[in-house]
Amino acid sequence: MNASLPKYLVSACLCGKKCRYNGTAGTVDRLCELYKCGQAVIVCPECLGGLKIPRPPAEIQLERVVDACGRDVTAQFRLGAERTLALAGKYGITRAILKERSPSCGSKMIYDGSFSGVKIPGQGITTALLRENGIEVISEEELEVFIK
Ligand code: SF4
Repeated sequence: MNASLPKYLVSACLCGKKCRYNGTAGTVDRLCELYKCGQAVIVCPECLGGLKIPRPPAEIQLERVVDACGRDVTAQFRLGAERTLALAGKYGITRAILKERSPSCGSKMIYDGSFSGVKIPGQGITTALLRENGIEVISEEELEVFIK
């Protein structure tokens, strides 16, 4: 049994879970290792918010989150963010490694809301809430910030 407490909250899709909107994962081997050795708690905010797999892609448009079918999914994204924050609190986690460019998990870049593949500086709904509550968030593209 590994007695050390988990240090990181990690996007579930980065640890091999097929929870992305299109039913795929975005596996990063180093993060899978962290998870397997008990150092990471994995979470998919969109699933926690009640969205299904697969689901239409969604993007942030000003204060709302809208999916590619035109459905307003802001409430589900907010619920998923709140549940993710609660999970971090339960484990006393203060660092998160989340999937870049996601409307939930992005930490530096997101899509611009036009569903045309254009990326802009920004952060996802969950990342914003975690940061507002003092949790450091980076992406899988800058692991060296946390993991030497
Ligand atoms: S919400 Fe986050 S964890 Fe879930 S599929 Fe999207 S990027 Fe991955």
